[in-house]
Amino acid sequence: MKKISVICDDCNTEFKMGKLETEVMEDDPTIEHGYFKCPKCDKLYTVYYADTAYRKNVDKVVACSRRINELQGILKYKTKKLSDGDFIKYHNEFNALIREQEELMQANKDITKKYKNKYEEELICQN
Ligand SMILES: [Zn+2]
Repeated sequence: MKKISVICDDCNTEFKMGKLETEVMEDDPTIEHGYFKCPKCDKLYTVYYADTAYRKNVDKVVACSRRINELQGILKYKTKKLSDGDFIKYHNEFNALIREQEELMQANKDITKKYKNKYEEELICQN
């Protein structure tokens, strides 16, 4: 995976985002916190908070991606072999999966936000 360059909000240091650090929350071991820190000032950047619902959503996103890839292949390269009815059917399935994926990813953003508010409230107040 390509490393992403990040510029720290606090100290303006530019650094490559390496492997994420993870921790399990003390009050709820089903929740995992993925984050990275600025190497210079230690500012914490949350990438995700994953609970059971979050992980289920990730599984669904992966399943959607697989089917989306399949459908892309069918729609792109086999158009000539498809009847109009099948084309419409696959095309609509494709669009529905894209929508579903967006909804799942949005749901996971909301989950992360919820826990961020819960666990990082004090940090926000300090800043
Ligand atoms: Zn920094």
